[in-house]
Amino acid sequence: MSPSSLDELIEALRCLPGVGPKSAQRMAYHLLQRDQRGAARLAGALAHALDVLRHCERCNTFSEEAVCARCANPRRDASLLCVVEMPADLAMIEQTQSYSGMYYVLMGRLSPLDGIGPRELRLDKLIARASDGKVGEVILATNFTNEGEATAHTVASLLSARGLKVSRLSRGVPVGGELEHTDTGTIAQALIERRSV
Ligand SMILES: [Zn+2]
Repeated sequence: MSPSSLDELIEALRCLPGVGPKSAQRMAYHLLQRDQRGAARLAGALAHALDVLRHCERCNTFSEEAVCARCANPRRDASLLCVVEMPADLAMIEQTQSYSGMYYVLMGRLSPLDGIGPRELRLDKLIARASDGKVGEVILATNFTNEGEATAHTVASLLSARGLKVSRLSRGVPVGGELEHTDTGTIAQALIERRSV
């Protein structure tokens, strides 16, 4: 017997991070009973986003175009490439208004326990991007968590081996710190005080 549409919805909601069976059930009841308009909007927005969004050829972040507006902007400094884990980190660095170079968004971090190695993270795409001949310095701005540090270490070795200059945000960002939860002043300072690796 195939699961009922209600069971299927509850099961589908469990794909969200941190959502177990109980909360999935609560969400399903809420959407169906209390907020049908919200549910329809969510379903539409999700289907639309899945349909139109892809990854920018250059920076790898979500984009509706092959090359996103930021990468296509000729006023940005093409000699600097800042590597971050997620689009939220890019947004934080943009908020500091102290960086006008380009970005590369990994869309994750190395996490061997979850089966995410260099291949899954598509580090070959980053290497190709950094080797475009215009990039003079790659700034590693992954988080200062264990996984973020390990990612920075691996990326640094891969890029240094190709003769690229690599730097890392300074320790102004606290140990275990995630950019998303760090104030913009601290990030701006860490950018200025970045060190070669
Ligand atoms: Zn882009």
